[in-house]
Amino acid sequence: MELADNKKYADIILPLPLANVFTYEIPINQQASLKKGMRVMVPVQKKIYTGIVYSIHLIKPENYETKEIISILDAYPIIRRPQMRFWEWVSNYYQCYLGDVYKAALPSGLKLESETQITIKDDFEDDASALTPREQELILKLSGGKSLSIKDIEKELGIKNPLPILKRLLEKEAIIIKEKIIESYKPKLEEFVRLNTNLRDEERIKSVFDQLKKAKKQADLLLHYLDYSKAFTSEKTVEISKKTLLESSNFGNTILKGLIEKGILESYKKEVGRLDLSVIETQTRHKLNQFQEKAYGEILNHFRERSTVLLHGVTSSGKTEIYIKLIEETLKSGRQVLYLLPEIALTSQLTTRLKKVFGNKLGVYHSKFPDAERVEIWNNLLKDKGYQVIIGVRSSIFLPFKDLGLIIVDEEHENTYKQYDPAPRYNARNAAIVLSSMHGGKVILGSATPSIESYNNALSGKFGLVELMQRHEEIALPEIIAVDIKEFRRKKQMKSLFSPVLLEKMEQTLNNNEQIILFQNRRGFAPFIECTSCGYVPKCKNCDVSLTVHKAFRALTCHYCGYTEPIPNQCPKCGHEHIDSKGFGTERIEDEIQALFPEARVARMDLDTTRTKTAYEKIIDDFDQQRVDILIGTQMISKGLDFAHVSLVGILNADNMLNFPDFRAHERAFQLIAQVSGRAGRKNKQGTVILQTSNPKHTIIKQVIENDYKSMFKLQMEERHAFKYPPYYRLIYIHLKHRDIQILNKAANEMAIKLRTVFGYRVLGPDNPPITRIQNLCIKRIMMKIEAEASNEEAKNLIQKVSDEIRSLDLYKSLQIHLDVDPM
Ligand code: ADP
Ligand code: ZN
Repeated sequence: MELADNKKYADIILPLPLANVFTYEIPINQQASLKKGMRVMVPVQKKIYTGIVYSIHLIKPENYETKEIISILDAYPIIRRPQMRFWEWVSNYYQCYLGDVYKAALPSGLKLESETQITIKDDFEDDASALTPREQELILKLSGGKSLSIKDIEKELGIKNPLPILKRLLEKEAIIIKEKIIESYKPKLEEFVRLNTNLRDEERIKSVFDQLKKAKKQADLLLHYLDYSKAFTSEKTVEISKKTLLESSNFGNTILKGLIEKGILESYKKEVGRLDLSVIETQTRHKLNQFQEKAYGEILNHFRERSTVLLHGVTSSGKTEIYIKLIEETLKSGRQVLYLLPEIALTSQLTTRLKKVFGNKLGVYHSKFPDAERVEIWNNLLKDKGYQVIIGVRSSIFLPFKDLGLIIVDEEHENTYKQYDPAPRYNARNAAIVLSSMHGGKVILGSATPSIESYNNALSGKFGLVELMQRHEEIALPEIIAVDIKEFRRKKQMKSLFSPVLLEKMEQTLNNNEQIILFQNRRGFAPFIECTSCGYVPKCKNCDVSLTVHKAFRALTCHYCGYTEPIPNQCPKCGHEHIDSKGFGTERIEDEIQALFPEARVARMDLDTTRTKTAYEKIIDDFDQQRVDILIGTQMISKGLDFAHVSLVGILNADNMLNFPDFRAHERAFQLIAQVSGRAGRKNKQGTVILQTSNPKHTIIKQVIENDYKSMFKLQMEERHAFKYPPYYRLIYIHLKHRDIQILNKAANEMAIKLRTVFGYRVLGPDNPPITRIQNLCIKRIMMKIEAEASNEEAKNLIQKVSDEIRSLDLYKSLQIHLDVDPM
């Protein structure tokens, strides 16, 4: 009888879109050490992947031979138990594979990459007659124990596809394929220096100085070292890195080298963290004012019965101060806190403010940080005494928290909480509520302009509702003045994009030494160019969108795939020489403002000027320190920034927000205008907002001017009800993608018909999404509207079933179908 019952198996999550888990055999001698949540290396066809152990069991799979796990990468699990449950929820709710969640959750430094390597088989005897010339050539390149990757071989042999040769050589048992694993996270090492152990004695060190009589500089540096390191004092010796030693003295590396060569000092390498762990003097936070105190009390009251509270507080009411107090209380009970912010609001202003209170207990998880730093945050959280507060962007919901007592979702209405692409297409705000319930924790959602969904949940009693309508120190909300640009245009009084009202106000503001923010919801120089003769508009080769003009780079760029081409001097179609910029991006506004106000210092903040974290912080810092008078920006400038000297905000064109074809357009326009306006206003002085529009009577504009959130909410709810949108209905978008538009159309129609037999009128389309081709894949969309009270689970299962049926057809082999649950 076979000892089959000896064997143990592990189900592994792999970053592959094929199934949720894959079963592997655990090597007998490793059975004891393998645990759920550890990383392992496993073979898949000819490649090796890093996977996560999902479960361990005794059940041998029936329909295939299992392979063995190659090695175990961790000594302890790097995914904790509640996290794994959270992954399951994400995969199930957002209809994607566990592997997709795994890819989104881990920083790339924790996922090893594999590159197939080829070497000559040890016992291969080179019998030239058995090999073709090509094969011989490759064997020659591999001689002497060299190994080459497939990519190298392509280059060395100058051929496109070396696989057939490799296959033949494998059959002839001439070569083997081995895997070289590249661990992409490297600990940071730094060189340190110390006194040779034999010299740590007063007598000997004296003789060293005698020896150095002729090398004065070396002697001085040694003296400096002894002084600095506190060697030969009663205090603890300080470790000194080479860099610090040289920087703190006036000597160069050659002098230090001399001391090392003589064996007086010795150098050694040591792992240092990338994270800033310097000790920070913590300060106590501000005392809450009476309104904040009241709101704080109400939050605690709600928490007795509900796990989620919506804090609706106008801009600058001090929501952050309340969060800080809540964090303090949670830390006192020994539990962790996650403070979520949309990407654009995660500024150094806020982190500095929190660092002052929480010091080293606070970790920051930013998508603009290098990956290595993210790995260190991850590892830090696995320790017993790791960070207690994490402030981070949406992906920080995947960090390995041990015991989350509180999650704060600031600016909860922001659509950057939603990941569009790739899967998992999750909404971090909603997912945070689920994550928190898995830890038995609380959630606070905060916003000056809550999302319709959250406000509805608050009114229905699902969430607690707390309002904070006074700004700190009762600074008045800004006055918003709508300016009719249609009228000024008719009278020919517009100076390009600027109304005389705005220009006059800007003039005044600059004269008062106050600052201005100009908001335009569009980056680049101009959205597109158009030939004035034939009307030709250059479009992206890969996507169905017109190219955006970027003057600084003299280029036309696609904002979807990054495709770039030079700006043509004449129309590529008709040869006409006048090819004109249409519309206005932030870059063009910057040029024009500089021409209109030559004395003013102007800066611009958008995706193009903030590619790195330092660039981003510099712009904010310059503006904060009043080294810049006018800041021009996209919605990036609307959030989380708090500038003391801004008294004027100009919104250059509200029309493109109002006319955007989406059922959330009006809600968003209200939010954006209110948020941008919130940047205006200072102590003892009301700020002004100039809102340029060709439709000053629009309901949304009226509601914003009157700061009437509740009317906005009521009207939007009526429309959502009438047209079957959330929160009354749940939306699921089904996107189908294929290179061939005909096959795509056929598939989309068939799928819609099949869905209609199950869901009837709840199926809309197929139609074209706003962009119908991205990176050479054509896209069709089917929209599903499901009653909010219907079973979400059941609906998704039925959709998956139909989708599987379609995909199983031969014609649709390369068809991609993906679901977007609760799209935004
Ligand atoms: P919000 O998050 O609601 O926009 P903030 O918390 O950023 O508002 O507060 C706006 C400004 O007012 C900040 O500069 C903050 O330091 C200050 N502030 C708010 N509350 C207090 C308080 N109780 N004591 C002192 N300063 C406060
Ligand atoms: Zn493109």
